[in-house]
Amino acid sequence: MKEDIFGLTLAELEDKFVSLGLKKFRAKQVFQWLYQKSVFDFAGMHNLSKADIALLEEHFALLPREVKILREQNSQDGVTSKLLLAFPDGNSVETVLMHHDYGYSVCVSSQVGCAMGCAFCASGLNGCIRNLTRAEILVQVYLFNERLRGENAMVSRVVVMGSGEPMLNFRPVMDALDFLHLESTSFMSYRNMTISTCGIIPGIKKLQADGKPVNLAISLHAVRQELRTELMPVNKSFNFVDVIQAAEGYSEAGGRQVTYEYILLRDKNDSVQDAELLSNYLRFKHATVNLIPANPVPEKGFERPSKAAVERFVKILQKNKINATVRKEMGKDIDAACGQLRAKFVREQESK
Ligand code: SAH
Repeated sequence: MKEDIFGLTLAELEDKFVSLGLKKFRAKQVFQWLYQKSVFDFAGMHNLSKADIALLEEHFALLPREVKILREQNSQDGVTSKLLLAFPDGNSVETVLMHHDYGYSVCVSSQVGCAMGCAFCASGLNGCIRNLTRAEILVQVYLFNERLRGENAMVSRVVVMGSGEPMLNFRPVMDALDFLHLESTSFMSYRNMTISTCGIIPGIKKLQADGKPVNLAISLHAVRQELRTELMPVNKSFNFVDVIQAAEGYSEAGGRQVTYEYILLRDKNDSVQDAELLSNYLRFKHATVNLIPANPVPEKGFERPSKAAVERFVKILQKNKINATVRKEMGKDIDAACGQLRAKFVREQESK
């Protein structure tokens, strides 16, 4: 099997090239083709000689050409595209491109499946199969960059909010973000990157120690211990009060505002009392709340609250001077909640 060189650092690529007898500066040229121009076939790299191209083709593979696109869904409004990608080992993940007024952002997955078992989430239906590598995280961004080539655009924001728990795959996730930050690749600001966690406190601390101005999002979803444990079993290991404290620590250390995600589930966590409690926990914090009217997951039996209930919840937060937004409905028609497209695909395969 050919060695896959996608996602290698420039130094690593140079070593490979030199050991193949290629000139070291060729590695830099190839690096530019890959990560600045999003060209993923050696034959299209016009400043290489035919002989070099042949040598590269003989020895190396590139992950963007090795992954299969199992499914592609585009929302009717044209704003969101979702891909279900299969890696060479057959495992699949979802990745979503969103077109905002300020540019393109991608929601990447960090693991195949997820071990956290949140009650409302489709990603964890079959547990965590494995971690993704740096290259597998990067390819989710670069496949979209390749598609944007025609309009001379590039993905300018990344949210690690697809399937998986990024804090349990910390190093590859950070390596991928560091890679995107390089001037020789996407030159993406850390301020345009967000890591979302269900509240793995050691991960929050590691992120803080790493010292990059990456945005932190916390999947909070409930502010009563019993309910949160029911919805998110991770609350038994890291209860939400400690999680908020760790997130505050992160925010104070780096001056970054924390986003708290709160899925609104009908008659579960959408009451007046919940809104008041949430306000009490977040009052005077450098925080914003992102309310997400739940995308129903058929396997899970959760429903989305009425519009009126959502509005009531927001109004209470606003009255209490808590920054709150309701997540714009992007891609509801394309199963855009984490894991939903993959879960559907797996279901379809099983029923065949
Ligand atoms: N494990 C990380 C990142 C992946 S989940 C985390 O927990 O933050 C990304 C976000 O999508 C989380 O806030 C998650 O709770 C939310 N999500 C999962 N299932 C959903 C559903 N059915 N409807 C709406 N949002 C959902």
